Amino acid sequence: MGRTRLTPMPAPLIELNAVGKRFDDRRSGRATQALDDFSLAVAEGEFVCLLGPSGCGKSTVLDLLAGFERPSAGHVAIGGAPVGRPGPDRGIVFQDALLFPWLSVQGNITFAPRLAGIPARDYRPRARQLIEVMGLAGFERHAPYELSGGMRQRVAIARAWISQPRLLLMDEPFGALDAQTRLDMQELLLSARDRTGSTVLFVTHDIEESLFLADRIAVMSRRPGRVALEISVPFPRPRNYEALLAEPEFGRIKQAIVKMLRQQRQVD
Ligand code: ADP
Repeated sequence: MGRTRLTPMPAPLIELNAVGKRFDDRRSGRATQALDDFSLAVAEGEFVCLLGPSGCGKSTVLDLLAGFERPSAGHVAIGGAPVGRPGPDRGIVFQDALLFPWLSVQGNITFAPRLAGIPARDYRPRARQLIEVMGLAGFERHAPYELSGGMRQRVAIARAWISQPRLLLMDEPFGALDAQTRLDMQELLLSARDRTGSTVLFVTHDIEESLFLADRIAVMSRRPGRVALEISVPFPRPRNYEALLAEPEFGRIKQAIVKMLRQQRQVD
């Protein structure tokens, strides 16, 4: 008798299988093949960064998962089911915070549960907690235009998180922030995510950001995008940015990614 017991692997939360995405511009008659044979699986609770040259199709991958776009080929599934319309199981954060300008900080954060008709007593405590965690206490009644870029982005993250999404899709959320604010936000995201255990798919073109945040990095090829290289990030959590910079392994992996990205520069 064999001694090996076969334990079924848990199904990944996200599954993109041989996905192709083509955009047809009817007016010019031109077509762009954004993705071709793109495959990626992300396990529940994993933090994966999608890294790649500009225009390689990173945002398109998120749009397919968000339900904003449909694949031209292949399969896109979340929790084993094909992705349908956008839903509250997926929180989305873009580079620009895109807050509702006529709502306060509190109003923006509680927008989704209010829209869903959830009673205040059910979402208020979580809103309170998110406001604390995101360092927004005292600013609840402020309007978006009264906030700094970093604060606006913290409101956007809290707004995405309030519905307790299984999956957080983030498209270069800290790309527009200065270096120090960006580091503060990265640390905040990691500590909040450690508490919630959410699965995160995070698009960036910043190699160091991906090494600090991710469990795994999927490096994309030039367009049409596909995964050219997958790297497991070996650093234990909680992570400390300064300590990571001193790790020889940090430099080694960064070098391997730089080399790969150089080869993948868009040529057209
Ligand atoms: P990245 O996020 O890596 O910069 P994108 O996913 O935004 O890349 O875009 C990939 C390619 O698909 C680009 O050439 C872009 O111009 C094209 N593209 C993206 N969305 C559309 C669209 N709605 N219509 C036409 N072309 C698009």
